[in-house]
Amino acid sequence: MIRRADSPDPQAGQAVKAADRAHVFHSWSAQGLIDPMAVAGAEGSYFWDYDGNRFLDFSSQLVNTNIGHQHPKVVAAIQEQAGKLCTIAPGFAVDVRSEAARLIAERTPGDLDKIFFTNGGAEAVENALRMARVHTGRPKALSAYRSYHGATAAAINLTGDPRRWASDTGAAGVVHFWAPFLYRSPFHAETEEQECERALRHLEDTIAFEGPQTIAAIILETVPGTAGIMVPPPGYLTGVREICDRYGIVFILDEVMAGFGRTGHWFAADGFDVVPDLLTFAKGVNSGYVPLGGVAISAEIAATFDQRPYPGGLTYSGHPLACASAVATINAMAEERIVENAAEIGETVLGPGLRELAERHPSVGDVRGMGVFWALDLVRDKETREPLVPYNASGEANAPMAAFAAACKRNGLWPFVNMNRTHAVPPCTITPSEAKEGLAALDAALTLADEHAAR
Ligand code: PMP
Repeated sequence: MIRRADSPDPQAGQAVKAADRAHVFHSWSAQGLIDPMAVAGAEGSYFWDYDGNRFLDFSSQLVNTNIGHQHPKVVAAIQEQAGKLCTIAPGFAVDVRSEAARLIAERTPGDLDKIFFTNGGAEAVENALRMARVHTGRPKALSAYRSYHGATAAAINLTGDPRRWASDTGAAGVVHFWAPFLYRSPFHAETEEQECERALRHLEDTIAFEGPQTIAAIILETVPGTAGIMVPPPGYLTGVREICDRYGIVFILDEVMAGFGRTGHWFAADGFDVVPDLLTFAKGVNSGYVPLGGVAISAEIAATFDQRPYPGGLTYSGHPLACASAVATINAMAEERIVENAAEIGETVLGPGLRELAERHPSVGDVRGMGVFWALDLVRDKETREPLVPYNASGEANAPMAAFAAACKRNGLWPFVNMNRTHAVPPCTITPSEAKEGLAALDAALTLADEHAAR
């Protein structure tokens, strides 16, 4: 039974919170300083607490519920599979696993036709890196500073954002470089063409000084997500593809966040006419209804492991419940034109609406994105582009963003806030009227950000 938003039960909510406080250890948090909201239920673009407060989910949780909450076809598929076969080791061939792999391979670009299943994004990244290292026989990987690739050992080292710092031993064979980001250009460029050209030259210089024969892989998010939704300039990704080909380096595109409809394409790579050697996915593949991720593998890399074993595996690789939910999700996305909806909403409602907010609000310095994948870069001053809060701010220094997020929630909107940015990343299924409701809530909260900017 779904607990409805219109039949609140605050006492039950308090009991959930008390048990959580006593026994749940939360990600990325100082355990004594947090007060997680108790969630009572969710449906479509909304979720709600036990006190009767309903929130429009402009975060898609962690940018994963692309198909919205509690999609009936996906829920039914999980229930049906649970009745048939809950678990089976990865060494067997199973109908739902075969079908999920086929549906994914059919949609991935180029010849990425073999699928290695994992339980999430970080494990996908770990395995992509391992495949690249074994395939090339080389040790190093290059990744971008403004990036997020997951929180396991190698994935956190590849990650560029400050969450890496605490666990980076410096011994992982990872070298970071600057990917293009015109609004805060690391290359002091003024046009997209300049940014693209200089970013490619910088990457090639980095490779020359590291030693091309030592580099197994370059990994990039096709459209970097957590680090700020920075749509790459035309020609950049195809330029990286050429560089990888020139030096025999494996090109990994991480589509854990950007894949499965988020950008208005099945895969973001489709929007940039680029085909990597390995593509990582998770999140949107089944909207996180059951943990699932994976790596789509090119024919050439798959051939490396045709006659010699792949040195990696997971007990739950291709878990039947996860695969059944992926099959139902992908079929529903195709039948209900959900990817097309994401593209249309981006072009007709979210993109224009966010740009209009930027015109009216002094605190909005930049609007970037595509599909249902947008970021507002909040600033103190549009001219200097000084961020509304300093890089990696916490506590008092982060107060303006904390106040902004609280205002969104008071207005019934659950935002995705990171550093000086708020991301507009609703489900791909969002309707035009829901998107407009979200824009109105952001509008009201931005007035508060304007006041902080003026201080
Ligand atoms: N890669 C990217 C691009 C991501 O956005 C994320 C998660 N935000 C990950 C990898 C890690 O995925 P997970 O949290 O499922 O391990």
